[in-house]
Amino acid sequence: MCLRGTNKKMNQMKASLCISDLHVAVDKKTILHGIDLIIEPGCVHALMGPNGSGKSTLAYALAGHPRYTITKGAITFNDEDITKSSPDKRARKGLFVVFQQVPVISGLTVFSFLKEVYQTYTGILIDSNRFQEFLFPKLGIVAMDKRFLNRSLYDGFSGGEKKRLELLQLLLFNPKVAILDEIDSGVDVDSLISITNSIQEVRRNNPAMSIVIITHYRHILQSIKPDYVQVLLNGKIVKSGDILLACQIEKHGYQTI
Ligand code: ADP
Ligand code: MG
Repeated sequence: MCLRGTNKKMNQMKASLCISDLHVAVDKKTILHGIDLIIEPGCVHALMGPNGSGKSTLAYALAGHPRYTITKGAITFNDEDITKSSPDKRARKGLFVVFQQVPVISGLTVFSFLKEVYQTYTGILIDSNRFQEFLFPKLGIVAMDKRFLNRSLYDGFSGGEKKRLELLQLLLFNPKVAILDEIDSGVDVDSLISITNSIQEVRRNNPAMSIVIITHYRHILQSIKPDYVQVLLNGKIVKSGDILLACQIEKHGYQTI
């Protein structure tokens, strides 16, 4: 999301993700009215905005959700146009989206889900023992007990447990760009700390990963320290700045933007 006027073309060349004049409609209603964002490798962006401003719509459109129709504009990922690519193709290229809402899948264990996604994502077939060796050391980072792996996917999960499972996937799959939609909403203080630690660990492991944190709160940003803060209002980015912008929003709300 580094829009720098005349340097835009140069930035685009090294951008991981480039969003140009993106218009998105849901059920024929236009929600996003021309988003321009450039996300460079290793940059952390915070995307803020009041409820209903279109933040999740942007996350869904980037993931390639079929209900979110791109009516104008383009998404380029590492110089390749992915505007019309399927969600799995985007994921295999290294785009990972943590959604605000996740579906419960009773009967599918967390372990089977993670192993299946790992195989699909990497194209590597792995047996359960080898996958355990890979997986177990990462559980501690997201404060997750091994027993958790036998539970049905998201079934009865607390807010914090859902978010920690999403971050575990980030640690396992090491995407190039991660979009985290309200990763810090609806969680208790302990979960917030482990979420923040996990994101920091992810960044240490993979400094080239770009991260977009969609959030309402300044707290997570004080630890993660975004390079840029952007404000989305009525489907358009109306303001760019740094952490001070997040502080201003927390103090005065969006009225002053
Ligand atoms: P935010 O994440 O910023 O709170 P959303 O992207 O969820 O905002 O929603 C933006 C607007 O788009 C809202 O008015 C919402 O009602 C509408 N919207 C988003 N997704 C859908 C959907 N699947 N069906 C109908 N309306 C939707
Ligand atoms: Mg949302």
